[in-house]
Amino acid sequence: MADLKGRVAVVTGAARGIGAATAQRLAADGAAVAVLDLDPAAAEPTVSAITQAGGKAIAVGADVSDEDAVNSALERVADELGPVGVLINNAGVTRDNLLFKMSTQDWDTVMGVHLRGAFLCSRAAQKYMVEQKWGKIVNTSSVSALGNRGQANYSAAKAGLQGFTRTLAIELGPFGINVNAVAPGFIATEMTDATAKRLGLEPEKLREETAKVTPLRRVGAPQDIANVVSFLCSEDASFVTGQTIYVDGGRKL
Ligand code: NAD
Repeated sequence: MADLKGRVAVVTGAARGIGAATAQRLAADGAAVAVLDLDPAAAEPTVSAITQAGGKAIAVGADVSDEDAVNSALERVADELGPVGVLINNAGVTRDNLLFKMSTQDWDTVMGVHLRGAFLCSRAAQKYMVEQKWGKIVNTSSVSALGNRGQANYSAAKAGLQGFTRTLAIELGPFGINVNAVAPGFIATEMTDATAKRLGLEPEKLREETAKVTPLRRVGAPQDIANVVSFLCSEDASFVTGQTIYVDGGRKL
């Protein structure tokens, strides 16, 4: 378990799914957590879960692809909780389609949230981390970075995040900042439920079919990712940087 007492964490896209589980895990590790999502009201259930468990959290509304919104959000977090030391770039969307049907808007939206969003949030957060000579950034890649039919936009963004991770690790390492990525496989969330519906399947059916072709014979839960993020933010991982850890039940093997 990471010891994050006295640290401030920002988790983007934390209203639900992997982000919500990660926010709760980092709060349990001792961090005060900014639960950032598009709609602050949607982030309230995560905040309540944290405070009811004895932790500290605030809801912050921001679109991670909006430069002014991101800069104001990080300033607000610094004012209300203290300077950010942990940033989890988790916010994400899918706009799947085969290349010949993919609209320019769907390409730009996915690049905007995943790549521009991670860039804007990391740039805004690093100045607080550099001042503290301590920081942890975890980006959220995906097994789709290795290629996935219908996801040219998402796959390119998730592969891009791996290069972004390695470069930030080089630039920020001298300031005591670790930068890593997690690359989830199939995790049962509203995102994968929406994928099932697009394929004309019940979410439970897609989970069953995916579990059958996964070496560990199950799909992932949001906590599976939160656990690895917590490890990457812990002292046990203090010599780990620039890495992408696949958390996929062996799916890509
Ligand atoms: P989800 O759809 O359940 O949650 C995503 C959250 O991000 C939502 O609360 C949404 O409101 C928020 N969000 C979207 N756009 C935003 C923006 N512009 N600004 C701020 N917040 C925004 O998804 P999830 O399954 O929990 O996925 C979380 C992350 O993990 C994403 O980056 C996703 O690409 C990645 N991932 C998920 C899986 C999976 O199987 N679920 C696999 C690999 C990678």
